[in-house]
Amino acid sequence: MTKITEHIRQADGKTLFSFEIIPPLKGESIQILFNAIEPLMEFKPPFVDVTYHREEVIDKQHPSGLLERVAVRKRPGTVGICSRIMERFRVDAVPHIICGGFTRDETEDMLVDLHYLGIDNVLVLRGDPEKSAGVFKPKDKGHAYASDLLQQVMDMNRGMLLHQETESYPTDFCAGVAGYPEKHFEAPNLDVDLKYLKMKVDMGAEFIVTQMFFDNRKYFDFVTRCREAGIHVPVIPGLKPLTTKKQLTVLPRIFHLDLPDDLVRAVEACATDKDVKQVGIEWCVAQCRELMNANVPVLHFYTMSKSDPVKAIAQAVF
Ligand code: FAD
Repeated sequence: MTKITEHIRQADGKTLFSFEIIPPLKGESIQILFNAIEPLMEFKPPFVDVTYHREEVIDKQHPSGLLERVAVRKRPGTVGICSRIMERFRVDAVPHIICGGFTRDETEDMLVDLHYLGIDNVLVLRGDPEKSAGVFKPKDKGHAYASDLLQQVMDMNRGMLLHQETESYPTDFCAGVAGYPEKHFEAPNLDVDLKYLKMKVDMGAEFIVTQMFFDNRKYFDFVTRCREAGIHVPVIPGLKPLTTKKQLTVLPRIFHLDLPDDLVRAVEACATDKDVKQVGIEWCVAQCRELMNANVPVLHFYTMSKSDPVKAIAQAVF
């Protein structure tokens, strides 16, 4: 296992390629995931991120017509997937760990599992709210903010467990956190959001991965604001190529971001989603080239476990 910060240091100024995948739906084969990862390995990613998905409450209809509320985790398996990726592809896997749906004790046990598996890079997040709730609610005895979860990770790095008086064997997690060039949707303004981001870095977060953005100026301004606020860790840009016309409304709604006019106009002019995909790839290639010229440490792609567009982009820029 090599720390993400060490991968960046070893690259010696060269921009690295990495990507995020999502676990398959429960009941699907892990081979789906391997098939998505395989075509991207030629670009030598030093690490691959695996998202975490909390359970969702759904109404299950019984044959009698009765509805039952049940909590279902549709995409389980993040820890196991990370282990398989590391073994199969010989790259570091970075599990996303979240507050939502976990007690502190459950989190501790998961971190112990990760430590035993040699998975020492983690992206520490609060997690999305439950779809049915709309607002984030921590589990009873769980964490409310990513900073609280980060504190637990850092405590374990100092050999401190929840219910143990004596010092235990320290873990060596390299923790990253999320950053939002267009502000987290709940923050009253970017200054407040940056205050909490700085808090996480001061607590020990060693790198930041950004929410996707489609206008590089948003990223460059964000990095400038981070540096002015005293945040000096690497800020890894997160990128996603547009692939469907529907995303013009879906992405702003889900991720609280703006799409540039030129991109919107180009997508609206497309007759089919195949054309949109091409526009999305070209837009993202232009973004990547400018970001590489600015010496960003890594180009990190949100693949949604679909490799085609990202492969086309990587072929053009690496
Ligand atoms: P936090 O840092 O806790 O911030 C949440 C809000 O609270 C912000 O508005 C912040 O300004 C504010 N805040 C922070 N700390 C405090 C404090 N101590 N007191 C008061 N206010 C505070 N979600 C998933 O469920 N699974 C994933 O795998 C996943 N991966 C992601 C990967 C990336 C790169 C990104 C950018 C997001 C990801 N998300 C994921 C979504 C993320 O969980 C949501 O955006 C969530 O709403 C916020 O997470 P956070 O870690 O930024 O939260």
